[in-house]
Amino acid sequence: MSQAYQVPAFPVDTHIYRLAYRWGLSDGKNVVKTEADLKKVFPEEKWNKLHLQIIFFGRAYCPARGHNPYLCPICKEHGRKAIFKEFDKKAKTAQK
Ligand SMILES: [Zn+2]
Repeated sequence: MSQAYQVPAFPVDTHIYRLAYRWGLSDGKNVVKTEADLKKVFPEEKWNKLHLQIIFFGRAYCPARGHNPYLCPICKEHGRKAIFKEFDKKAKTAQK
């Protein structure tokens, strides 16, 4: 365990997993695949910092609950179509 500590890593937790899927960076099959996809997209020296930046960004703009993809700065530009569909569907059900 401690030997792996020094190695640059991109630990994918539920937040990173969700965001990578929403932003179309990974197809979101599982966290292992997501980590591999993110490592391909971003240079190794950015991993540690980016991990935190994604979490903080997600907390502020792209939360699990009450997320509005039309207002989210990343989702409105790069968001997967499926999340807009899902949001529209939920909005419709709420009106009933
Ligand atoms: Zn978002």
